[in-house]
Amino acid sequence: MTATRHTVPALVGSVSVSRALKHWGWGYEDEQPSPEELRGAAQFICDRLGFGSPDPEQPVPLSEVSLSEPRLRPPPALQAICATDDYQRALHAYGSSYRDVVRAFRGRFDHPPDVVARPGDEAELEATLDWALSAGAAVIPFGGGTSVVGGVEAAGCESYAGVVTIDLKALDRVLEVDPVSLSARIQAGATGPLLEEQLGEHGLTLRHFPQSFQFSTLGGWIATRAGGHFATLYTHIDDLVESVRALTPIGAWESRRLPGSGAGVSPDRMLIGSEGTLGVITEAWVRVRPRPVYRASAPVRFADFAAGAEAVRALSQSGLYPANCRLIDAREAEVTGAGDGSHALLVLGFESAHHDVERSMTTALEVCGDHGGMWETRGTRGTRGDRDAAVGSWREAFLRAPYLRDVFVAIGVLSETFETAITWERFPAFHEHVVSDVTRVLREVCGGGSLTCRFTHVYPDGPAPYYTILAPARRGAELEQWAAVKRAAADAVIDRGGTITHHHAVGRDHRPWYDRQRPEPFATALRAAKRAVDPGGALNPGVLIDP
Ligand SMILES: Cc1cc2nc3c(=O)[nH]c(=O)nc-3n(C[C@H](O)[C@H](O)[C@H](O)COP(=O)(O)OP(=O)(O)OC[C@H]3O[C@@H](n4cnc5c(N)ncnc54)[C@H](O)[C@@H]3O)c2cc1C
Repeated sequence: MTATRHTVPALVGSVSVSRALKHWGWGYEDEQPSPEELRGAAQFICDRLGFGSPDPEQPVPLSEVSLSEPRLRPPPALQAICATDDYQRALHAYGSSYRDVVRAFRGRFDHPPDVVARPGDEAELEATLDWALSAGAAVIPFGGGTSVVGGVEAAGCESYAGVVTIDLKALDRVLEVDPVSLSARIQAGATGPLLEEQLGEHGLTLRHFPQSFQFSTLGGWIATRAGGHFATLYTHIDDLVESVRALTPIGAWESRRLPGSGAGVSPDRMLIGSEGTLGVITEAWVRVRPRPVYRASAPVRFADFAAGAEAVRALSQSGLYPANCRLIDAREAEVTGAGDGSHALLVLGFESAHHDVERSMTTALEVCGDHGGMWETRGTRGTRGDRDAAVGSWREAFLRAPYLRDVFVAIGVLSETFETAITWERFPAFHEHVVSDVTRVLREVCGGGSLTCRFTHVYPDGPAPYYTILAPARRGAELEQWAAVKRAAADAVIDRGGTITHHHAVGRDHRPWYDRQRPEPFATALRAAKRAVDPGGALNPGVLIDP
């Protein structure tokens, strides 16, 4: 069968150039809460958590911030696509971690990029790269800037002649759709909503929904091995990538479009997770699918997290592969309004474009029942339908979370997340150790706080636990508090055999623990690969490997 490819026309007016992004946190400047709304939210959060200040602090306006002078100026030929103004440099100085938000909120920009380039096509990207390399600059690829691990920050680039951050967001098109193989060729800078909007015109979807979906990009997902909403089977973007194209300092690196291949070390897998250190990803062929028509979801209560974990283990080994299988501990269910704090909650869901999923749900609920699970309602849906209140509350909280983090900073609540994966047989002891170590450090450093856990993804051989910390922050001392908590969490995870990250990437923040996790011969091979494609060591210095 011959594939009929549709070349997709450029979207007119698809890029919102008029709305300014907030330079210090999540979202657009024009969608920020009013002072009254902020005070109301602050009071609500303080009442619910039992700490934080009902009197929100205000961010330092950019007009009061003084950034260092840019060390580089773009050549005339690139001036139209380059910026050196304070707003663009501040906007691209950090990712979106708690630490990033705190520093930007306080007007602290220690090492902003000197130049922010926004190429409109691959030729402009190549010209930018050539200039930056010849000028002796460090180059930081930038998608949505939603990194939570210091992936886009120019820390440690002082020995370079300057830093050029390349923002990929003008490369935002779905270029081709192959409806026979169900694949699409998409430019790296397309954000979640933009690529879904364009695929939607073909009745197709990628269905990769990280919580940062609104602003993160396909290139960022591939560079960081992002995790989407599928709890099983297609957990990472890796599973959806057919081939990748990147520009490296020594030329283009493009893998073949193949459904699978056993030909040696995979050229696309090597770019997936390269975090901007091997090349700038420009586009990828990804596996797409029709939109789901049949859906079923149910909230299942368990007496405690351990009982829920046993049920999830059985589910993950049953061959049922639910699309959603998020086990949330009692405290997190309470904080998100999905429970009353007396039980753990499993948000279970199935979806399909082809067949009814009722039987799968019935079998899955039987498995849950065998492990003490209880449920009262069960939502069955065609393309749209009712959501159970608990499932709805959880989903709402999930979508609100990125905005809420900015409020936390303003009211003195330290919020941090860390995530990992571990095999089932080690999970109970691992979890106990992590909870005990981090809780102790929270007491010492913050005087208390909460540590909650949920499973974001599950595999037949183990879960991916995701921990959320909320604790009282001392205004002005948040960065020291954060560093102590981060160290305790990362040490606990690595000491007990987990991975330093299941889907948040390594960046600069996880480097010390990543260096402990990876085998030394692998580090030597990665270093050699980096030197081969990036002889000057210009691409995202400090991330993953030193040249
Ligand atoms: C509130 C919130 C929720 C989140 N939820 C999730 C989640 O559910 N799942 C998840 O996996 N992650 C999540 N993250 C983390 C983050 O969104 C992901 O790491 C995401 O993949 C980053 O995409 P981005 O486009 O924003 O990349 P950026 O933050 O811009 O960059 C991330 C890294 O990728 C590199 N990079 C970016 N684009 C390219 C490119 N075209 N070529 C080469 N390198 C590139 C950068 O240099 C950097 O090292 C969340 C973050 C936040 C703030």
